[in-house]
Amino acid sequence: MDDIIIKTAPLTSKGQITIPQKVRELLEVSTHDTLRFIINTTTKQVTIEKQTAVCELCRDEKVIGSQPCFACDGTGIFDSNKSVLSFISQLQKYNIQGSIIWQNSSDFTSPLPFPLIKLQTSNTAYPVPIIETFQDFLQARSMVEHAGNVPFHQYDLDKLLDHLFVTEKARNTLKQKLQPETNAIFETFFGQKKK
Ligand SMILES: [Zn+2]
Repeated sequence: MDDIIIKTAPLTSKGQITIPQKVRELLEVSTHDTLRFIINTTTKQVTIEKQTAVCELCRDEKVIGSQPCFACDGTGIFDSNKSVLSFISQLQKYNIQGSIIWQNSSDFTSPLPFPLIKLQTSNTAYPVPIIETFQDFLQARSMVEHAGNVPFHQYDLDKLLDHLFVTEKARNTLKQKLQPETNAIFETFFGQKKK
């Protein structure tokens, strides 16, 4: 790790500073992004980080009911870049089993080029809609991971989305995003930046 001094920034009377352009580039932040300050009270050194997506499942509470949030692993910060496989292995800790099902569904003229994701749990501490929401997130995520090769125009979109997703929210969100002509346009409907 290298320490570099890029530029000094003067403090205004309102307590504002301009984050130098080099720093903004380094952090990959632009207008409306949020920065987070981590302060070491002993050394009085401050680390500035880009604020990552807040976990929408627990709304930054880190818990769901009395249990730690399984989506963000109890951190409140949601890593939407994690793969489906690493999410599924994370879920085991919370007694939630994820299945990755490659199917040859006769409901569709072409076999689906991405797996179906199912979550099951005997842990009744987590409400069913919460599990369903996360299952839908993982389903979308699994499609993102295979999106380069998905010929969506071959499918009846309504039928496909009904088949894949359990929540209305996921079906509607993806229907809006998914144009038959374009592939690879999924974005997570789950992670959102903190306002
Ligand atoms: Zn969470």
